[in-house]
This record gives sequence, structure tokens and C-alpha cells, in this order.
Amino acid sequence: MNHKPMRREVINREIREIEYPLDQDGNPIKASQLFGESTFDYHTAREIPDHIRKELQEISRSHTPISKDHASVVANAALEWAMARGATHFCHWFQPLTGSTAEKHDAFINVENGLPIEQLSASQLMQGEPDASSFPNGGTRSTFEARGYTTWDLNSPMFLLDGPNGKTLCIPTAFISYTGHALDIKTPLLRSEVRISQAATRFLQATGLNDVKRVGTTCGPEQEYFLIDKAFYYARPDLVMTGRTLFGSPSAKNQQLDDHYFGDISERVMGLMQELDLELYRLGIYAKTRHNEVAPGQYEIAPIFTESNIASDNNQLLMAPLRRIAHKHNFEVTYHEKPFAGINGSGKHLNWSLSSDTGLNLLSPGKEPHSNFRFLATVATIIEAIHRHGGMIRTSIASASNDHRLGANEAPPSIISVYTGDTLAKIFDEIRKGEKVTSREIGTIESGVQQLADLSKDNTDRNRTSPFAFTGNRFELRACGSDMAIGLPLSILNGAVAEVMDESASYLEEEVKKGTNLDEALIGLTKKWLTNSHQVIFNGDGYSDEWVEEAKKRGLPNLKTSADALPLLKDEKATNFLTTQKIFSKDELVMRHNVLVERYNTLRHIEFNTMVSMINQYVFPAVVKYKNELSQCVKNQKDIGIESAFEKEIYKKLNFASEGLYNRLNQLNNALEELPSDMNEESKTIANKILPLTEEMATFCGQIEELVPDEYWALPKYYDMLFIR
Ligand code: ADP
Ligand code: MG
Repeated sequence: MNHKPMRREVINREIREIEYPLDQDGNPIKASQLFGESTFDYHTAREIPDHIRKELQEISRSHTPISKDHASVVANAALEWAMARGATHFCHWFQPLTGSTAEKHDAFINVENGLPIEQLSASQLMQGEPDASSFPNGGTRSTFEARGYTTWDLNSPMFLLDGPNGKTLCIPTAFISYTGHALDIKTPLLRSEVRISQAATRFLQATGLNDVKRVGTTCGPEQEYFLIDKAFYYARPDLVMTGRTLFGSPSAKNQQLDDHYFGDISERVMGLMQELDLELYRLGIYAKTRHNEVAPGQYEIAPIFTESNIASDNNQLLMAPLRRIAHKHNFEVTYHEKPFAGINGSGKHLNWSLSSDTGLNLLSPGKEPHSNFRFLATVATIIEAIHRHGGMIRTSIASASNDHRLGANEAPPSIISVYTGDTLAKIFDEIRKGEKVTSREIGTIESGVQQLADLSKDNTDRNRTSPFAFTGNRFELRACGSDMAIGLPLSILNGAVAEVMDESASYLEEEVKKGTNLDEALIGLTKKWLTNSHQVIFNGDGYSDEWVEEAKKRGLPNLKTSADALPLLKDEKATNFLTTQKIFSKDELVMRHNVLVERYNTLRHIEFNTMVSMINQYVFPAVVKYKNELSQCVKNQKDIGIESAFEKEIYKKLNFASEGLYNRLNQLNNALEELPSDMNEESKTIANKILPLTEEMATFCGQIEELVPDEYWALPKYYDMLFIR
């Protein structure tokens, strides 16, 4: 029962070393030399003839379907390439609504005229048929056929998945039902990219940038995670079952000294990070930064940003090798947003911007006042989008696990506001309060524009408490959880911005037609949006209680839990901007609602059941054992005429805590029996009634853990999991 041997095992772990790969001359290879060696991208693949490459690029640009002949060339080239590297199988790799990725492997091997032959046909490349009924589909079988198919995403590179004894060629795909409904994360994201491209291109053309033909969004997701030694991890049923500790007494020192953030990376962890980076380079992922995060045992990895569809695939891709390599180093990684109470949880900060095919970052303030009016109008457009659709953006990051992090004084609250920094806020105020736009006012704005140089200052000491912060040349959606697929929040954000961007384009086109000077039109547009939406700008402390009060006065939605947020997916008024722009159909939204609410409820049930069983198997036995010992001691001392003071005191405390725990346990069991049958009502009851009950239980468990001897406590403690590595 004692976990001392476990501690010894962990302390004495050998550090895993790998041989650093060498180039042909026997020198250590450069990252750039092995970069992308496990990926097959038609843009760069030598196996694809140049004229075909050009045609494929044109097909991709114009969003037209690819012909069988073209697909055939790619399939053959990919097959040759993959076999030369030892691949025997291929799979369609996709992101169903489970939140992770799915793959079904098929061998290249086939029979032709009675002889074995390796094949990857055009149709195998383009389309697969996994059984959709095994994936979450919102229980709407009547509207959604059980059959689904996967279709190749030409633009996301294929990659080799390493197994211990062979390799698989993974083909990134979308996953759609036969009735045409998106069953995955990727499809709506791609649709949202098309929409935002149309709207932003029109917008830029209206500002005179006629050579712009396409605009895409870029994303750099910073991934936070915890590492826990395998031995401790598997000794905690709650970590294995739910990804978080359901109770645990905090260690005396946790993050109060701020000594972990950017601190020395322990050697074992460094070994893991180095091996991971090599693997990511091979997979064509520009792993850029790695460091300790705020909480002990917490780390972060961030790649260089790229177009959102690829960033979304890459982030899913990154999470898998990190898990696998952590394992080799005897760690388990947990992506749960709140694995430990009392210390910071993990997020996934989505750095997001808009970039044109001419190389313009729309969120980069330029040097010329002229380009800055466009910049200001772009930011104002985005602020209006967040103001209109903050509720949906909050919904897009809703999950049982992220609920623990939002508003827990370490992450933004559930209120979606925009941080602009003081410089922009001042300029916006000037524009908003200007009576009407005259050249004199443009004069003041121009001087204001000089202040844009200060933006970089705002950027460095920027506000970390805001859910959506402007950070100099991009926005950062900081409310996204570490365990989530980023495709959903990106689709919703893109959809919100595309809607307003379209209106901005129309406004400019009309003004220009009327003969309004372009600068004045841009300022007029900025003013229009800010007049409407300045209430969503908040540059103060997002963690404070005052903000919650203030936000209420401003009429901003505060959807505290997923139970409050998820029903928005069924609210036609709230989702109108998604359906009219054809990013999601109404059915697809209802389906997501059902999947996510069901998932919320199921995950909570798993937590409750795990908690009950851990209390019975670990907590109560420790209480009984120690109580016996104490009472025996009290009796013995009485026999020899000695008063027992502290023994009785401990006994009483133990009794109080365990009685309290037992009482709540009964309440929990009763509450679980009386759950409403409607799924939304069920999740509300869970979030508002049952969860608080389990938090009280966790407090009692923590008290008991503090009272019983270390050797009676069979579960690894926070101290073990966070500090021993
Ligand atoms: P910090 O921790 O200070 O927020 P990091 O360096 O950890 O910064 O991460 C910043 C992320 O923002 C990186 O992934 C980076 O590539 C990304 N980024 C930078 N510029 C853009 C942009 N224009 N669009 C999207 N992401 C960007
Ligand atoms: Mg960072």
C-alpha cells in the first residue's frame, strides 16, 4: 500500500538518451535538413511533375474538385515515396467530434492476376468509408445516415505514422455523412476559411488593394500540458479515468514563488522535449518555443504560426507524438485543463490573424497613416464581431474540463471581452467621440497614428487576463482549453469576423461610390463599429470580481458553465451568422449540440463514479485504519492512567471529515438517481448542484489526506506528482 518504493523508483529513473541523427558526413544533422522528411506534400514533392504541381495549385486555389487523373498521379507518387520509407499501410486520418483523431488502416498490398502487388489508387486516396455510426453523430440517426465517408484534403500534407515495427501513410481527410453533413472538425473550418477569404478580399479591394485575390487566417496555437511520472499516474485512478485529480491536498509550496515559469527545465523533461522537437521537425511542424509554465510540472510548446487549417491538423498531430514520446521517458502527459486544484490549469492560446496572398498581415499596423486607417478599421471590424458573437465564441470553447479553468483566477472568465491595449483604446476613443469625420479629426487621428509605435510596448506588458487580446500584430484567444481541437473555435471566430467583414466591405464600396475619400470612409467605418461595440473592450483585470459586475452592466453574456453555453448551439438567433454563411447547417449545429452535451454529461458521470469508488477503496479504509490505531492508543493510555489529548483531537477531526464525506456521498448518490431525463436539464443539474457537492467532498478528502499518516495514504500526493521527476 505504501508508495515509498514508488518514490524511490521515480527518483532513480534513468534519463532516456537517443542518438542524435547524423548527416552523410557524420556531422549532427540540422533541423532544416530533416524538416518534413516524414511528410509528403504535393507542393514540394520531387515525385510530382512540375506541370501537374501547377495544375494542382490552381485546383486548390479555385476550390474546384480534383480530377481522377490528377489524383492518380499524386496517389502513385505518394505510394512510391511511402514504400521507399518502409510504409506498408495507409489510412485516412480525420478529426471526428470525439475531440481527437481517428484512423483506419488499409494495407497497400493487393492481388492482381493472382499476384501480390502494392497499390494506392486515385479513389483510395480521394475517398474512404469508415462506419460513421461508430463516431458521435448526435444521436440523430433519422436525419443522419449511419454511413459516412472521408475525402482527401489536398492542402494538408500526408505524413508517416511510426509504429514500433512499421510505418503508415496518413492522408488528412474531411469526414462527411452521405447526406452531406459535416461529421468532423475540419469541414466547417475549411468552409469558414472560404467565407473569410471572400469577405476580406472584398474589403481589401475596396481599400484599393486590387491585386489581393485571397485572404486566409493564420494560427499559432501555444500548447500547455502537464507531465506526471507514469508510476504515479497509473496509481491514480482519477487521472487515468478522467485526466484530473478529483481530490488531493495541495502541497505547501506550489506556484506561490513563481519559480517554475521559464525556470530551469529538468534534465528528464529536457530529454523528452528534445526528442519531441526532432520528431516534429520530421513531421514538418515548426516547433519553436519550449519552456516551463507557471505551475510545477507544467510545460508549453508553441510552433511557428501557419494557415489555420494546417495549424489545426498540426496541433492534433503534435498532441499524439508528445504523448507517445512522453511515455518513452516514463511520463504521462495530461492535456486536461485542470488536472490539479489550486494551481494553474492548461490552455491553448490561439494566436490568430488574417493574411493576404500578397503577404499583408491585416493586423499589422503599417508605417503610413494611410495603411493604418485600414488597420484600425480591420481591428474595429473584429471588435464588432466579438461583440456580436461573444456568446458563441464562449460556446465554442465549452467543455467539462475547460469549465474548471475559466474564471478560476488563472484564466479569463467566461465573459468574452477584447483587450486592445491603452494605445489603441485611446485612438479608438478619439475616433468614436469625434462628432463627424472631418479632415481636422483625421489630423488628430494622424497624430494618434504616431502613437501606434507604442503598440509594441502594450504588447510586451500585455494583459494576460483577457480572453481575446490584441498582441501587436495578431489577436490571442486565450480561453481555448489545452485538450480541445482548435478547429471549432477557429470556425466560429472566422464566421463571426467574416460576417462583419462583409458588411465593412459593403460600407466601403458604397462610400467610395459616393465619392468619399478612402481615409474618411475607413475612419467612418471604424467609428460606426466602435460606437456599437466599444462596450466589449476591457483593458482592466479580467480576473477581478468587479469585472464580472461591470460586464453585467454592459450587457455582456456570462455563460458560466458548459451547461449554460452549449444550448446556444440550438439557438437560431445566436447561430444565424453561421447558417446564413453556410459554415454550419442547422442540422450540423444541433448535432454538435447533442454530441457536446452528451459528452459533458458522460464525462461528469465518469468523474462521479470514479470519485465514489476511490473514496470507498482508498479514503475510507485509510480513515478506519487510523481511527482504529488512535482509539487503541487512547485506550492503552487510559489503562496506564495517561490522558490522550492530541490523539483525541485528531480522532475528532478525522471523524468530522469522514462523517461529512459520508453524508455528501449519500447526497451524491441520491442526486444521481433523481437526474432529469432531458439532456440539457441533466447537465444544468450536474453543473449547478452535483458538481458543488463533489467539490465539498474533495475538500473533506483533502482534510483526511492531511490527517492520516503518509503510509496509510495509498494514492500518490500532489507532492509526488508535481515535484518528483
Ligand atoms: P507568448 O507566449 O508571448 O504569447 P509565444 O512565442 O509562446 O508567445 O507564441 C506566440 C505564437 O503566436 C507563436 O505560435 C507565433 O508563431 C504566433 N504568431 C505570431 N504572429 C502570428 C500571426 N500573424 N498570426 C498567427 N499567429 C502568430
Ligand atoms: Mg507562450
